[in-house]
Amino acid sequence: MKTHNDLRELLNRIDHRGYPAYKDTRGSYQFDKYVLSIDHVQGDPFAAPSKVSVHVPGKTAGFPTELFQLKHKRVALQDYLLRKFGKEADAFTFKAKGSGKSGLMSVSRCGQEILERTACEIQPNGTVIVRMEIGFPANGRTINSRELIKILFEFLPGCVKKSLLYASLDSKSVQKNAELAEDQQFIREELPKLGLAAFVANGSILPRESGVSDRPMKQAVPFQSPKSMEVSLELPNYGSITGMGIKEGITLVVGGGYHGKSTLLKALELGVYNHISGDGREYVITDDTAMKIRAEDGRSIKQVDISMFINNLPNKKDTMHFSTEDASGSTSQAANVVEAMEAGTKVMLIDEDTSATNFMIRDELMQRVVNRNSEPITPFIDRVQELSCQYKISTILVAGSSGSYFHKADCIIQMDHYLPKDITEFAKKEAAAFPIPNEPAPDSQEPSFDRVVKPDHAFQKNDRIKMKTQGKDSVMVNRDTIDLRYVEQLADKEQLVSLGYLVKYAQLHLFNGKKTISDTAAQLCSILDKKGPAGICEGSYVPGGLAMVRKQEIYACLNRYRSLKL
Ligand code: ADP
Ligand code: MG
Repeated sequence: MKTHNDLRELLNRIDHRGYPAYKDTRGSYQFDKYVLSIDHVQGDPFAAPSKVSVHVPGKTAGFPTELFQLKHKRVALQDYLLRKFGKEADAFTFKAKGSGKSGLMSVSRCGQEILERTACEIQPNGTVIVRMEIGFPANGRTINSRELIKILFEFLPGCVKKSLLYASLDSKSVQKNAELAEDQQFIREELPKLGLAAFVANGSILPRESGVSDRPMKQAVPFQSPKSMEVSLELPNYGSITGMGIKEGITLVVGGGYHGKSTLLKALELGVYNHISGDGREYVITDDTAMKIRAEDGRSIKQVDISMFINNLPNKKDTMHFSTEDASGSTSQAANVVEAMEAGTKVMLIDEDTSATNFMIRDELMQRVVNRNSEPITPFIDRVQELSCQYKISTILVAGSSGSYFHKADCIIQMDHYLPKDITEFAKKEAAAFPIPNEPAPDSQEPSFDRVVKPDHAFQKNDRIKMKTQGKDSVMVNRDTIDLRYVEQLADKEQLVSLGYLVKYAQLHLFNGKKTISDTAAQLCSILDKKGPAGICEGSYVPGGLAMVRKQEIYACLNRYRSLKL
């Protein structure tokens, strides 16, 4: 292997030359403590920065095996190291000067969630890899390699030494990070054993600082479970913890406007991920197949069997294979429910704020005036028990404005000044005085999930496929924009990057006219499971900037992909 001296010589040689001469630096170089790999060199100082990775061998990094053997601990350690490295790199970014992106040093920015990312990977043998971006310095378009030498020979080694070597980290803090991951995993594994859909620890801080900040709200009212719903767990590290256990079945969250209903639901939505220490939601853990269900006007739907909710449309449109390029509120929400079933969700999370009213309920007067036979929609309220009993799919539903669900719910929580009260008994008693018309819902069939995907001949060669993401809103694959704005459990823009790669991978290798969407999702998940998000990158190097996605989001993405050929 070439050494750092070779790199330094090369850099000295190309100083003052035209920018393309930087291309020669591609390759791996042995440094004192690690291998520096220049994976991709930018074309000019204004283009996307160069991709560089640092590989610290296990022996040098020195992390005890027990910190990275189990997946949940490994992911937590990767996240910890990435944040540390990011802080170090931040101190140096743009300290080397020049035109355009000259001197930039950056790695993925992590939010409150702990996600597996390609930006930091710990391999089974303990090798730590960090994948980052560096703006190779230039003056105008003339190479300034003296500045790059500063970055690669002073700044970067400092960052690596301070953040990627066990010996230089605070071992207590590393240990604490691992213990939190262990406790979170413990709660996750306990949920099904206790028949719970979610757990919210007492003392949790659910609200966020603001609409644009995910940090915990400062003067928030800490969460406190009603006594009747309290569950205590003995965590391996934290010890005994008590909180609200939301049982499987149908849970209704009611309460006056502004009393914290949506805030609770939002915390449950993101409880499918682990949160960092200090977030306030460290011990808010939701069944990790949970899916937020909402109305999504305008989305595309491809041959989804929504007949359990919508039947006998006036235009005789087939609702067992329902397709549209522009769904209404109710059809979109129906498709979201059925697709969630297909994606194997065990918990549906619904907020009336983002639901189509006609999908959720039909009030009594309307039932009397408009006969069931002239109403194509069987509202969710008429299926929610079937979902729970027959399909073992729980529902946690926020509904402050309609009492109809009182009759159906197993548990009713009232949010009162941000504190939950168990009002099940009281509400049930009141509801008994308001009997609902017991017009039985029409029979339904289990939706069929047999959508086979045909190959798309526009995808034959790996190299000509364009991908681009727009924050958390959408990912473009070739000319097709997949709108993911309303897939609310996507927590990080890097997850959309991964989805782009997954779609590309599926187009190139999986869609063959035989595999169904389910087969495809399962296969993609198994790659992610085995190799992490790095496993779906097929180029000559693994880029930083991809984050893990769940099976549920893979389905959500494929289901919104307009040019999917069925
Ligand atoms: P709802 O859905 O019941 O109308 P929200 O959940 O939207 O209410 O909450 C209303 C406001 O109260 C939001 O601005 C939210 O940030 C704030 N809030 C929610 N929970 C708390 C809490 N525990 N402490 C302080 N403020 C809170
Ligand atoms: Mg609300």
